[in-house]
Amino acid sequence: MSVSGLPSVKILIVEDEPKTGDYLRQGLVEAGFVVDLARDGLDGLHLALSGDYDLVVLDVMLPSLDGWGVLKSVRRSGQHMPVLFLTARDQVEDRVRGLELGADDYLVKPFAFSELLARVRTLLRRGKAKEPEVLRVADLELDLLRRRVTRAGARIDLTAKEFLLLELLLRRQGEVLPRSLIASQVWDMNFDSDTNVIEVAVRRLRAKVDEPFEQRLIRTVRGMGYVLEAPEQM
Ligand code: CA
Repeated sequence: MSVSGLPSVKILIVEDEPKTGDYLRQGLVEAGFVVDLARDGLDGLHLALSGDYDLVVLDVMLPSLDGWGVLKSVRRSGQHMPVLFLTARDQVEDRVRGLELGADDYLVKPFAFSELLARVRTLLRRGKAKEPEVLRVADLELDLLRRRVTRAGARIDLTAKEFLLLELLLRRQGEVLPRSLIASQVWDMNFDSDTNVIEVAVRRLRAKVDEPFEQRLIRTVRGMGYVLEAPEQM
């Protein structure tokens, strides 16, 4: 919380040019934002994946991992905060590529700070980028609009509850979800430890989603619950 009592808005800047980075940080701090600055792509990606940011200002040309790579990984991980791209040249293909990868807006260098601030405010007003239509981890995809699940391109038929359970696991991927949370979100019921409805549902879901494939995505964390995540090396 900021001193005003309003929740603070956090912005991540990923920019390797020291002067530009410092200048942007200072300007955004003066405009009332909480700002972190990463000076290369990998640091930027690491911070962006923490999920702490309301918006990312992302330079394209970066050491260690370029802006395209950062954006791709951010979107793939299910983060949907607005991303404002900074490109060095006004190249149509750069812009198209950025927008295709899920950037929300772009600015061509050099730009006036007031221009950047206006874009930032517009993006924040627009709120989080559109809800994703497809949730994915590794080669597993869940299409929310078409109510369809595929793994490695093969269609998987799920019951309505199994679909909801998989959707929850995908939305919160990497988090250990306690049975009580699954019970309330998928079955709309208070957790009763006598019932094995969740264990049974997870077992059925695994039989369809995991067992026919080499890599297991759904893990049981003993005494805690379940977690869905991509195997390490993917
Ligand atoms: Ca740069």
